[in-house]
Amino acid sequence: MIDNPWAPTSLKEKTALVTGGARGIGRAICITLARAGAFVVVNFRQSDRAGQETLDIIKQQGGQGRLEPFDVTDSETVDRAIANIIGETSTIDILVNNAGIVSDGLLARMKDPDWNDVLATNLTGAFHLCRAVSKIMIRKRHGRIVNIASTAGEAGNAGQANYSAAKAGLIGLTKSMARELAPRNILVNSVSPGVISGGMTDRLDEAQLEIIRSNVPLGKMGQPEDVAAAVLFLCSGMSDYITGQVIRVNGGLYM
Ligand code: NDP
Repeated sequence: MIDNPWAPTSLKEKTALVTGGARGIGRAICITLARAGAFVVVNFRQSDRAGQETLDIIKQQGGQGRLEPFDVTDSETVDRAIANIIGETSTIDILVNNAGIVSDGLLARMKDPDWNDVLATNLTGAFHLCRAVSKIMIRKRHGRIVNIASTAGEAGNAGQANYSAAKAGLIGLTKSMARELAPRNILVNSVSPGVISGGMTDRLDEAQLEIIRSNVPLGKMGQPEDVAAAVLFLCSGMSDYITGQVIRVNGGLYM
């Protein structure tokens, strides 16, 4: 835990909501923000046990937080959940839109549900959260929003037309919100990870992983904590003059 409340990365007395915080990158973000002093609200959809594990780790490390399971694709559920959180913490200072899914396939064979589900979770879900939480931040004249994009959203990826479109849309949402909310002192940025160990990449076989590693200048996959560090920077007092940006955490891939 960071004890000094004046440390530049201290999030003491801040409340952070992280969607998809049960596993993978989202879990690392929850733990990192909690270690910096934030009260962390851990969201997920159905991974109750993994969500509880994230909260247990936070508490074992001296942090604070609670669970708030809900489905980001359902706007009424999102609004109810935000009201619940506000009922307890009275504010949300930091929102991290991390919840995401993939449903890969070549465009010509892609089914409507593959397209719709991926857009609904990765893009529309983030919109639901941004709309609900920005109202609170506007009243407070303060806030940080970080949207977790992807290299696929910047460069495209064969077999991921749905995912790439959703993540490119998320970057557009980030940039528009940054302009709209800057006068209210709300900073909105994206973190764009390359290939990160665990989570969505678990399904890749060794041959695919070797191809990925050989294309990354740093010669290895990233860790969830690498992404979490960039999120902490964007949520902290070290980034007061940064908004509307895409911070790449990709081992040196050039786009
Ligand atoms: P994981 O699959 O490990 O975790 C995804 C999380 O999102 C889970 O907690 C899951 O909860 C949650 N989630 C999914 N759908 C919903 C929903 N409708 N409502 C609420 N929560 C939901 O993913 P990663 O850690 O690998 O990825 C995290 C983010 O990083 C994603 O946005 C992803 O696109 C992005 N990213 C990942 C990369 C990687 O290499 N891993 C690379 C680039 C970007 P539940 O289990 O309950 O459904």
